[in-house]
Order: sequence, then structure tokens, then C-alpha cells
Amino acid sequence: MKVIQIDTATPNPPEQSILIIYTGGTLGMVYSSNQGGLVPFDFEQILDKIPELRHFAMQLTLYSLEPLIDSSDITPNHWIQIANIIKENYQNYDGFVVLHGTDTMAFSASALSFLLEGLNKPVIFTGAQLPIGAVRSDARTNLLTSIEIAAAKRKGIPLVPEVAICFHDLLLRGNRAKKLESAHFDAFHSENYPSLATIGTHIEYNHKAILTHTATAKLQVHPVMESDVAILKMFPGVSKSAVESITQIENLKGLVIETYGSGNAPTQSWFVDLLKQAINRGIFILNISQCIGGQVMQGRYATSAQLLDIGVLGGSDLTLEAGITKMMYLLGKKLPAKEFKKGLIEPICGELTTI
Ligand code: ASP
Repeated sequence: MKVIQIDTATPNPPEQSILIIYTGGTLGMVYSSNQGGLVPFDFEQILDKIPELRHFAMQLTLYSLEPLIDSSDITPNHWIQIANIIKENYQNYDGFVVLHGTDTMAFSASALSFLLEGLNKPVIFTGAQLPIGAVRSDARTNLLTSIEIAAAKRKGIPLVPEVAICFHDLLLRGNRAKKLESAHFDAFHSENYPSLATIGTHIEYNHKAILTHTATAKLQVHPVMESDVAILKMFPGVSKSAVESITQIENLKGLVIETYGSGNAPTQSWFVDLLKQAINRGIFILNISQCIGGQVMQGRYATSAQLLDIGVLGGSDLTLEAGITKMMYLLGKKLPAKEFKKGLIEPICGELTTI
């Protein structure tokens, strides 16, 4: 891992310190005429690219993962690596910024929100739709705003002591956000939870929506994510063989079904039977809606009552990203079934609304 120190306060002592973890993605790319395409930018030149950083009076440390990756290649091992970097450096920094590709940022922010147990400092994910080398790039403002938010305090207490995504004009809870745009600058939205802040000429914090700072909390990283999980998306005409092959995956421990509306699924007996058999084999099934707003209410329609009857767990208003990563996290804890089910349907760090 490459480590770069940037002191933007010299000759004065830095007022704050922020650790930036650079994982890759579009933000840190520049055009290379030698290589004829976009290549990761050498962060040692960051002050040349973003001279505004000098105004911060901060100690900025940059950890660059090796190799830098497009976020389509992110894995649970990367999540654990990022969580451990934060843990090892926790006492020495006021806040943390994670530079990450936008494609899977909502998965990573959700995963980190679970893995970083007892977090009470800001961990702000950001990225960009256009590389830092592009004239109209959003990388500069996204990075500067994220650093400002990661360092923001009131009476010595961090304003955002949680995992969040800062993008364009919004600060969103990480495990509530979704990438909804691949072209416009406002890539991330959160339908079921208010923004933690809106970013304009001022950063307006929505204090009521932000998790409360717990001074006594001790950071702990849970080091295991279970990967034997799968997602089954409903669509009219989904075949028996498709459902069968997914529910019968060897070693499968958890399955998310992405259902219609408020949690509805086909009522054909072969479908319900396959899910029931999976549950009887000890597989946990979580029901998450394909709708980005609203919540799963099993039993509201007859088409979801049967899911409730056979023991499918209702995911309320969890995003798919939060649902699957929460499942991976909780399965990694090897909890007794009763505790696992309770953990899955109750909020851990603001990821879902209880009905
Ligand atoms: N494919 C890129 C990634 O997610 C897109 C981006 O960074 O915005 O790494």
C-alpha cells in the first residue's frame, strides 16, 4: 500500500487530520497520451490538481490500495481491508474519506456501516462521474466537500459520526443510498430516508437525521463476511428451473428475493414449495422490494401472505445493497437462527425502518 502525507497547514500546525483511502474508480483517473486512455492519477500531484486543498490547514494522509480497481471488482475482502485500515488509524484521525468507484459504492458503504461496529467518527465515501483530469470533472468538489464533512465538528464532536456517501449536492446515509444515475452528476439518491445534508453555498446538516454520537462507543471490526449468498429477482415468467437452480446452490446460506411492490411474489405452488424447501434446509430468505421507495409488508396482499407463512423474512425498506451486505455480515457472525433472524429485521445502524 502506498502512503502519501500532505500537510496543507505548513508552516502552522494542522488543525485537523483526515485519512483518505483511495481504492480506484473514475475519480482518480487522468488521460495518458502515452498509454492512450484513462489511467490512475498519481496522488502525489494532488496539490497541483486541487490547489484549493491548501486552504484546509489539515494533515491529510492518503492510503492508496494496490492495485487500484474499478469498483466492479470490489470484493468482501476489500471491505474488510478498508475497515481494518480505519480501525488501525482510528485514534489518529478526525475522520475518514474513502475514494471509490460509483458503480458499487452503495454496496461498499452499506458493508462498512455494518463492519465498523461502534463507529463514532465520519467515514465519507465519494467518487466522481468524470475523472479528475476532465475539465468539467465533479471529482474536485466531491473530494473537497467530503474532506470538509469528514472534519466537521461542533463542540469537539463530529457532526456526521457514521458511514455516509457524499456526492454532488447530497450527503446520504451509506446504507440508504443507491446509485440511480450513470450519466448525470447527481448519481446517488435515498428514497426511504432523508438526506443527512444538502450541499450548496453552505453545507446544511439535517441533524435530526444523523445518527447520534456515542462517546463511549468502542470501534470494533467484524472480520468475516459470508459469500455463500445469492439474489433472486422476480419477473413475470420466471421459470421453475431458474428458481430451482438458485435455491439449490451448494452451500447456500442466505438468499435475497427481490419481489414486486410491497413484497409480492408469484403464488404458484411450485414457487412457494421451492422457497419452503430451501428454508427447511436452513437457508435464510430475505424479502426486498424492487421498488426504490416504500417498504415490504408481507401479508398485505395474498401474494405475500404465503411468504410470511413459510418463514421468509420481511426486509421492510432495506435497499438491495444494504440487504445483501447485512446478510453477509450477520451470516459471518454464525449466530443462532433466532438471533440471526432478529438481527436481520431490526435496524443495526439506521439501515431500515421498523413498521
Ligand atoms: N466503473 C467505475 C467504477 O465504479 C465508475 C465510477 O467510478 O464512477 O469504478
